[in-house]
Amino acid sequence: MTPADPPSETLRTSSAQTSTIPLAPGSSRSILKEYDFFKVVQDYLDRAAKTIDLQEFVRTILSQPKNELIINFPVKMDNGEVRLFKGYRVQHNNLLGPFKGGMRFHPSVTLDDVKALAAMMTWKCALMRIPYGGGKGGIKFDPHSVSKGELQRITRRFTHALGENIGPEYDIPAPDVGTNSQTMAWMMDTYSNMVGAANKQTVKGVVTGKPVASGGTLGRAKATGQGAVFCIVEWAKEKAFDLEGSTMSVQGFGNVGSHLAVILSRLGVSTVAVGDHSGYLFNPEGFNAHKLQDWVEEHGSIAGYPGGKPITREEFFKQKVDIFAPCALENQIGESEAKWIDCKMVVEGANGPCNPAGEKIVLERGIDIIPDVLANSGGVTVSYYEWVQNKRSESWTEEEVDHKLEKAMTRAYREVADFARQNKVDRRIAAYAIALARIEAVYKEREIFP
Ligand code: NAD
Repeated sequence: MTPADPPSETLRTSSAQTSTIPLAPGSSRSILKEYDFFKVVQDYLDRAAKTIDLQEFVRTILSQPKNELIINFPVKMDNGEVRLFKGYRVQHNNLLGPFKGGMRFHPSVTLDDVKALAAMMTWKCALMRIPYGGGKGGIKFDPHSVSKGELQRITRRFTHALGENIGPEYDIPAPDVGTNSQTMAWMMDTYSNMVGAANKQTVKGVVTGKPVASGGTLGRAKATGQGAVFCIVEWAKEKAFDLEGSTMSVQGFGNVGSHLAVILSRLGVSTVAVGDHSGYLFNPEGFNAHKLQDWVEEHGSIAGYPGGKPITREEFFKQKVDIFAPCALENQIGESEAKWIDCKMVVEGANGPCNPAGEKIVLERGIDIIPDVLANSGGVTVSYYEWVQNKRSESWTEEEVDHKLEKAMTRAYREVADFARQNKVDRRIAAYAIALARIEAVYKEREIFP
């Protein structure tokens, strides 16, 4: 099913965007045109394909997702009204293994974005040598605007509507923006109630990122931030840069951004500026990342945190730091932001935070970028470890998980860095190219059915 996506309200806030959703003071700008995230990812695919002379039939197959599902489903709200929600699941490719990717609950979710994010999951899993394909999904609504009971009913009803379109050997969702381990527990419980009593125990792996007591793995909650830290450590070694005493700005203080800040603080990196959907804060002494994480957990955003001075979005981007970590949404660093940022390196905790125009300026200014498909792949890597533990009825220690993740991230980082140097391309194109070459090798062996 691929009906045209209705025009949607967008919250993206880079130079060329428009927004109908109120943002924090100082954070909204007027926008002129819609950002075509899927086209951006297709263009990267084309550039990487040229770099490795990818067979045309492989490029053609990968240029569109395999399946695009849109489901409008009703949910009874607390006040008795019935509200219709729009849910998406895009299954980009499953050549290397089951479709795999997060579920996003956000008012700006569109089919196009989900297609872009699903394709990126295909590259990410291939880059990390994980036996998964790529998928992504979401529901277009603001999870902060509903009660916990409503949130549970929305999640369960969507999972039920997805039915056999997901499954532990077919398509495996995980948390993304606006979802967390609780969401995954509801999804897993709903799915396990749909498969019959005899199969209940065998389908825990239908989602990853579950709470540990419900079949999740130790180390998953922090995995994306942790994976990005392993990349940053490699980058620092490569550049002979001393992380101890360095500074960082973090946009987005949710799962990815907060864990990144907490883990880096142990390596002596001080987070001096933070921002989220509620606004931006500055603290020249460095935030206590643990305390700020607890605050966000309790209050839902950084708003009102006593340890920082409110600043505008522009001031946030202009802050001089060593590391800039966009960990919120796509299309945050456009042309203006790319000229404003004053740092040595951008680590893309979020998916697609730099738009192509912004990326060009950042690279021309000599600022390194650790690209999303590499930088944030720790999440799906540890999701894979969770799925393996579910299959084997095992539970690994956090040390085992971290150790495996470190090896996987370090290897991928070096492969990307080497490819980029040898082929004189930027690291994003290098990461795409490595992934595409792996997928191409399998298509060449298996060929096209019939
Ligand atoms: P989250 O919901 O936990 O946090 C999102 C953060 O972004 C919040 O702090 C929110 O306030 C902020 N935000 C939202 N809109 C914003 C705006 N307009 N301006 C500034 N900040 C805004 O989500 P997350 O899981 O941390 O995901 C963040 C990014 O990382 C996304 O791009 C996601 O696709 C990517 N990612 C997440 C994972 C994972 O394991 N969770 C894995 C890989 C990639």
